[in-house]
Formats: sequence, structure tokens, C-alpha cells
Amino acid sequence: MTAIASGHDTRRAADELLSWVPTGCLVGGEWRDASSGSVIDVLDPATEEIVATVADGTVDDALAAVDAAAHALAEWRSTSPRHRSEVLRAAYGIMTDRAEELARLMTLENGKALGDARGEVAYAAEFFRWFSEEAVRNAGELMTAPSGANRILVTRQPMGVALLITPWNFPAAMLTRKIGPALAAGCTVVCKPASETPLTALAVGRVLEEAGVPPGVVNIVPSRRSGDVARAVLSDARVRKLSFTGSTEVGRTLLGLAAENVVSCSMELGGNAPFVVFADADLDAAIDGAMVAKMRNGGEACTAANRFYVEASVAAEFAERLAQRMGALRMGPGLDEGVELGPLVNASSRDKVRDLVFEARDVGAVAVVGGDAPGGTGYFFPATVLADVPAGASLLRAEIFGPVAPVVSFTTEAEAISLANDTEYGLASYVYTADLARGLRVAEAIETGMVGLNRGLVSDPAAPFGGVKQSGLGREGGHEGMLEYTEQKYIACNW
Ligand code: NAP
Repeated sequence: MTAIASGHDTRRAADELLSWVPTGCLVGGEWRDASSGSVIDVLDPATEEIVATVADGTVDDALAAVDAAAHALAEWRSTSPRHRSEVLRAAYGIMTDRAEELARLMTLENGKALGDARGEVAYAAEFFRWFSEEAVRNAGELMTAPSGANRILVTRQPMGVALLITPWNFPAAMLTRKIGPALAAGCTVVCKPASETPLTALAVGRVLEEAGVPPGVVNIVPSRRSGDVARAVLSDARVRKLSFTGSTEVGRTLLGLAAENVVSCSMELGGNAPFVVFADADLDAAIDGAMVAKMRNGGEACTAANRFYVEASVAAEFAERLAQRMGALRMGPGLDEGVELGPLVNASSRDKVRDLVFEARDVGAVAVVGGDAPGGTGYFFPATVLADVPAGASLLRAEIFGPVAPVVSFTTEAEAISLANDTEYGLASYVYTADLARGLRVAEAIETGMVGLNRGLVSDPAAPFGGVKQSGLGREGGHEGMLEYTEQKYIACNW
């Protein structure tokens, strides 16, 4: 692990990037200060310096956004699918043209390495392109009733105003993964981005404005009063959809609030992905896959491999080789070229990761590489591999959300499946084996919404992304993504 790179100039980077990024709430096509006048300080996690202040929206601002979205709805839902498709395609083009600026902006407020940020911008823009293609494929169904007496006609209509709440770890992609299908379906939206990373969301708002999205169709209200804002917005009977990405704990609270008005919910929640390696696997491929599944986004991903279960005969070799690869990563401020591991998003994330590692070491785990925060400025934690992790260690149960790979050995296929399923989460999992029949058998037996089979990356805008158990409800992306923003209407016909 090399030392933290120097030469990072937060102020200069912020000045360059912020000239085109709005810092107000976007309500009804206007960028405005918060009605209270209060602001959110946005920090660079590499230097702990303030890079910008952004409007800290109030409940009144959020309700004004609902008003704007409700007023814009009738016109937007009656535009042609082709028109909505072309607006989204334009947004894809603008985002792609501005990719480098967006990536740098994201790194500035989130900390992730520029390579990860560039990857996220491409992934995020792709949701606009994908849903521009889906917008014109809102198919229904027609069948003859079993009695032969009449026809059953099923159409799909936009749900209406949607509340979209997103996390800081993928501040662009989690937003476009919701706005893309919502707009394609003909819904209007109120977005509440994470307070750690509002700038990226506001920049996406600017992109959509430039793409020709009419006033009121997309509203964005950054706010530190998340609970109050969500409660107020969900109490407005015009809001018919909630799409949330974030922790399972907050998801549970929001499901409770949504129950009052029986609002349709899509929930993308926490994960605790197992990464299972059988002894017959191609170990080179498994290590490559592990690097992606663990280290993409510095480990701050809901799909991040959280527990490595490796067949006993290759477990020591796997841990050693993974440690060599992870230990060679260059850690430093994400904006510095060549840096592969940036800081974690804030001090409490860094401290949580450190506490989980310390506790695992206390109960017998061995740090093959890494193991403690370096100290000094910035919320850094080094890439860490822990071997011989005992079953009771907390980091096998909690979402680590950092660059830490605990390795545990197993002896039978049944044991691997049982260990993999020993969690309330069920988002993603990974399986490496040369035996395709076994791979598919294990993939079917693991209780997750997504499985990477001999592959360390599952995210794809064209695939249905989502979890089972307490990792969520519904799917984003794929053909399913737009359906989440539509209601089926059944018309019983005689003709
Ligand atoms: P979080 O604390 O749950 O926050 C997510 C969003 O919810 C933020 O905008 C936050 O606003 C807001 N929020 C917090 N408390 C709220 C409340 N009581 N009512 C309404 N909104 C509230 O999650 P996070 O720390 O940002 O993100 C990390 C989590 O997201 C991890 O668990 C990760 O697994 C999950 N995640 C899941 C997926 C997926 O697709 N399944 C993808 C990415 C991340 P503030 O920032 O203002 O607090």
C-alpha cells in the first residue's frame, strides 16, 4: 500500500467544477434557495474541506416540489412516448459529453477514485439511454376471456407523482436508474438526494433541463431533514410512488410511512453478498472477479462482496493472492490520477469499518494486509484482507461498506450454501466454479435477487436489479424498471 498521494487541491478543483453546477433546490423549473435560507456544507472526504454549500430544503420546499410535479403531470403523461424517449436520449448525450466534469464533481464530494467515478457516469448515463429505448415499448395485453364471451384488455398507465430518495454511494446512477424509467413511463418526480452528495444530483438536474425536460417534471430538493420531508411528501395524496435506495433500516421506516396512503413502493436496500469459490474454479478469474466485487467503488457498494467463502484446499492461497492484489492498490485523494482507492465518504463510515476490523481481529481473524486507518487528514482506510475469520465476527453479519475482505473456509457445497444464506439480506452473490452444473445449482439455491456466476459484476442497465429478503422490493433497470412506475388497467370489453 503506497502512502496517501499529495498535491490535491480541493479549492482549485471545486472552483473549476462548480461554475455550471446549481446549488439551489430545483422546483417547478426554478433554482431557488431553501425557504429557511439554511445550507448544507458539502465536504471533500480526502481533505475534509468544505467545497460548496447547497440549499438545505425544508418541508415547505418539498411540498412546493410536489405541487410543481402534480401540475406538470397531466401534460407530461400525455406527451408521446417517442417525445419522452428523445428527451431521455438527449440527456444521455449531454451526460456523455460532460462525463469528465461529472466524474470529477462526484469524486470531489464522494471521495471515490476517479476511475470509479468515470465508470459510474457511464453507467448512470446508460440508464437514460436504456429507458429512452424502453419508453416506446409500453406494451399491454389483449386476450379472449376463457368463456369466449368478451375480451380482456390490459393497458399500462403512469402512476403519477413519484418521490425518489437516493444514497451517496452512487450519487448519479441511483438517481438516473429512477428518473429514467419514471420519465419514460410518463411520471413526474420529486428527488431527495443524499446530503453527503447533493452536487451530483443537482448536476443531473441541470443535464435534464438542458435536454428539454419541462419545468416541474423533475424537481430536486436536497435536505438534511430527510425524515420530515419524506413524511410530509408521502402524506400528500397526489404522491403515488416511492422509490428508495438506501439502508434497510431507513427502508423499513419509509415502508411504514407509505402505508398510510397505500403508496406503491420500490425498495433497493442493503446487502451482505457472499462470494463463494470452489476448489475447481479458475483462481486467476476468481481473484480478478473478487477485485471487482470487493473493490469497485472502494467497497462502498450494496452489491459489494462482504464475505468470501473459499473451499478449504484453496482458501490460504486465495487469501494470499487477494492480499497481494489489494495491497498493491494506490490509495490517495480520488482526484489524483493513478489513485485506485479513495477515502470513505465520511468519518463515521471510516470509524465503522475500523471498528468491524478491530473486533474481527480481537476474536481471532488475521490481517494478511491492511488492518488500520492511517491517521492524518481524510477518511482513508486501506484495502484489508482478513483470514481465518471466526463465524461469530460481526463483519460477517453487518454490511462492511469499505475495502475489507474477510475470508472463511468451507468443505462441502451444502455448507457453502448454508453459510451464504445465513443473513437477512438477499441482494447479490457470486459463485466461482469450473463445473457449470454446480454453478447453476448453487446459484438457484442462494437466496439473492442476483448472482454473478464466474463474474464479479452484476450491475447492467439492461438487467433487472434488485434483492429478496430484507434487501428490497421490486426491480430497477431491465424491462421491469419502467413497469415499477406504471399501473395496470384492465378493461373488460365487448365488441
Ligand atoms: P441511508 O442512510 O438509508 O440514506 C439513503 C437516503 O435516505 C439519503 O438520501 C438519506 O438522506 C435518506 N434518509 C435517511 N434517513 C431518512 C428517513 N428517516 N426518512 C427518509 N429518508 C431518509 O443510506 P446511505 O448511507 O445513504 O447509503 C448506503 C446504503 O444504501 C447501504 O445500506 C447500501 O447497501 C444501500 N444501497 C442499496 C442499493 C441497492 O440498489 N440495493 C444501492 C446503493 C446503496 P440524508 O443523506 O439526508 O440522511
